[in-house]
Parts: sequence; C-alpha cells; structure tokens
Amino acid sequence: MNKVALITGGSRGIGAAASKELARLGFTVAINYISHEKDAKGVLDDILALGGYGKCFQADISDPGDVERLFCEVEYELGNVDVLINNAGIAHIGLLQDMTNEEIRRMTDINLLGPIYCSKRAIPNMIHKKSGVIINVASMWGEVGASCEAVYSACKAGVIGLTKALAKELGPSGIRVNCVSPGVIRTQMNSELSEEDMRQLCDDTPLLRIGTPEDVGRTIAFLSGENASFITGQIVSVNGGII
Ligand code: NAP
Repeated sequence: MNKVALITGGSRGIGAAASKELARLGFTVAINYISHEKDAKGVLDDILALGGYGKCFQADISDPGDVERLFCEVEYELGNVDVLINNAGIAHIGLLQDMTNEEIRRMTDINLLGPIYCSKRAIPNMIHKKSGVIINVASMWGEVGASCEAVYSACKAGVIGLTKALAKELGPSGIRVNCVSPGVIRTQMNSELSEEDMRQLCDDTPLLRIGTPEDVGRTIAFLSGENASFITGQIVSVNGGII
C-alpha cells in the first residue's frame, strides 16, 4: 500500500498519536504543523524508527493560500492525499463577552474554516480516484456545549454538521467522511487546567480516567482503514463513557 494520509496539527497531542498509528498501518504520513517544527520532526523520527515513512509540512490551515501551498507540497513530495485528518485546533477558556473579536475570528478560522478549506482542496482528487477518507476531529463540547467555551463549542458543532453533510455529498463518489469526538484528553491543549480540574473531569468520566492521545489516534486509524469501509457520516465518541 502506498496511500498518503495528511494530518493537520500532527506535531503534538492527538495529531502526533494519529500520525504514528497511521504510519503503523502502512500509510505514508504528511505531518502538518504551524510553528513547532522540532516537535513535528520528532514525530517523523519516531515514524522512521518504526519503519514508516513521511515528511513534515509547515502551513497555517486557517489561511486558504497556505492550504493550497500545503497540498501542492504534499502532492509533489508524497503524492495525492488519500486520507485527510482535520485535527489542528486551538482552545480558549473564558466568557464569550470577554473574548475580543480577533480571538473569536482566529478560533473560527482555525477550528471551523480550516477543516472546510482542507476538505475543499482534498475532495477533487478523491472524486477523481472514486475513493478517499476524511476524518474531522470535533469534541464532546460540540455535541453538548461547554460553559466558557462557547465559540469552541460552536466550531466543533459546525465540524459535526460538516461531517454529516459531506458524508451525504461524497458517499456516491466512494468517499467516507467521519468524525471523532474526544472527551478530555491529556495534551498541551489542557495544560491550562489545574490538577484539581483534571481530577474533577476524571471523576465525571465513567471509566474514571483521562483519555490519552493514543486512545483517539487508534480510533482515527481504524476509521481510516478498510475495516471501516461501510462506516460514514458517524460521530464516534472517544470519551470514556460520558453520555
Ligand atoms: P494540541 O496538543 O494543542 O495540538 C494542537 C496541534 O494543532 C498542534 O500540532 C499545532 O501545531 C496545530 N495547530 C494549531 N493551529 C494550527 C494552524 N492554524 N495550522 C496548522 N496547525 C495548527 O491539541 P490536541 O489536544 O492534540 O487537539 C487536537 C484536536 O483535538 C483539536 O482539534 C482539539 O480541538 C481536539 N480535541 C482535543 C481535546 C483534548 O482534551 N485535548 C478534546 C476534544 C477535542 P504546532 O505544534 O506547530 O503549534
């Protein structure tokens, strides 16, 4: 197999775990990052050590010009993108009325428009091949809403809507579109939360633990592969049982 998987935000956390799991399945991985080049290269080193293959690509997925450049570079270096993992994202904790319009715009540009720009760019080649996979990384907050994360929740709810709509639009072209919806996962995104907050979130989780990036990475890898060939339009929760 020589399929190419592009993981946005592959340098850290969930994206790094997904990149390694996909490499284990035999995908050639394109690891996107925005600023942490060293981290992205560390992920690539781990993949090369496992006998996998890939490359790192800098781009800001909230900028359509950068998205075009990213895809052109990936196509030139590795080939057309068969699997797109829309994972890159940012968080912001605070009341809506305290957010600046610039903060609101930045969050929406990255968390909602980024997956839309990347999907738009990936789709024509997938339609041409009559196969492809898109996986969006949403959040349980997109399903139930989080106090003090209103814009984040709105973006993730949008990503869930995008998943369901694209699954219908692209199913007849042989393209599957699914969404993973993580609960609380121990990554840098949650580094602002105190240990007390994390303990509380852990207690609220039926499986009584915080998730790992690998918990989500393995689900992304499963949905990307042939074992998931009849699964599309689904929101797969990876949250330790919060319902
Ligand atoms: P993380 O550890 O903070 O990593 C974020 C990743 O996104 C990094 O690789 C970062 O690149 C990249 N990134 C940020 N802005 C970008 C941009 N404009 N263009 C390209 N890449 C960009 O986050 P995480 O916890 O792994 O989260 C990954 C996804 O899971 C996000 O969509 C997040 O909303 C979602 N999620 C996370 C949790 C959780 O509890 N952690 C729960 C639910 C959903 P650099 O390394 O270069 O900065």
